[in-house]
Amino acid sequence: SSILVGGGTGFVGTTLCNALRSKGYGVTIISRMPGPHRVSWCDIQTKGLPKNTKAVVNLAGQNVMDFTRRWTAGFKQNVYSSRVNTTKSLASIIDEANEKPTAFVTISGVGCYKPDKQKEYTEESVCGEFDFFSKLCKDWEEAAHLSDLSNRYCRVVTIRSGVVLGREGGMIKQLHLPFYLGLGGPVGNGEQYMPWIHIEDLTNIIIHAIETPNVEGILNGVAPKPCTNMEFSKAFGNAMRRPALLPLPSFVLNMLLNKERAVMITEGQKVIPKRTISTGFNYKYGDIQSACRALVGGN
Ligand code: NDP
Repeated sequence: SSILVGGGTGFVGTTLCNALRSKGYGVTIISRMPGPHRVSWCDIQTKGLPKNTKAVVNLAGQNVMDFTRRWTAGFKQNVYSSRVNTTKSLASIIDEANEKPTAFVTISGVGCYKPDKQKEYTEESVCGEFDFFSKLCKDWEEAAHLSDLSNRYCRVVTIRSGVVLGREGGMIKQLHLPFYLGLGGPVGNGEQYMPWIHIEDLTNIIIHAIETPNVEGILNGVAPKPCTNMEFSKAFGNAMRRPALLPLPSFVLNMLLNKERAVMITEGQKVIPKRTISTGFNYKYGDIQSACRALVGGN
């Protein structure tokens, strides 16, 4: 059987597709660029789901932390529609399909929880609409809703992901050089939480969601042991055998990235993966020290 992966060419998508192939699944990627085992968003809309699609996953999204792109109205529109519209179009393709897949797995962010130094958020916590990212997450999650008929056959699982830590992309790729040069350190006073997950755990949660009957609804895609930005900086600095003492003031990030976008780094929320654990998922990287050692070292 085969898995259809929107955005399968990306940082998370590449790791997921490799893991799926090594488990014996066929993988078809939906991409804006043509290539082998790929289809375009347009193809999928006109031709519908490929035959024998066991599950549909959507990981597409214009990279928010692409610092070469200014935070303009146009860029924000791309950030929004590359997530919400792709998810909506996959939901309607599933609704139209005669043979339904067994699972539809989508991503959302912990940005739906309001940054707070004390509050502990689980999947049951209420999400607000208090800024750009929280509104994006709400619409992104709603875009995944299926018709009642599809719901009878296809489980919808939405993973609210924290910062994804992996060598080949995302935050670690951007921080590698400054930390290597001994210029790493916390952001602001470092007291803000930094919800994180190792890339292998995130892709394993996606596979767990595809393969486990009864897993449905929201899962927090974060490690079981939350850490603060300061704890992360120390762990990453230690793993790289570098000091990580130079703080990066929040106002600098606000100035360079735009305050609306910088909040992802300058503020944070304490998120617990309560449902993820209760569905029987076993993490490989539970604490930030072991994750950082694995990201830097050989294992
Ligand atoms: P990437 O930045 O690697 O992008 C994923 C894919 O999205 C790309 O390979 C690209 O596929 C597609 N894409 C990019 N821009 C557009 C666009 N304008 N329209 C349509 N498709 C587009 O993302 P990640 O792998 O890092 O993340 C995957 C998902 O997880 C994203 O939705 C992201 O928001 C979410 N997430 C990621 C986190 C992280 O720390 N990385 C944290 C929380 C959530 P192609 O070029 O082949 O079309």
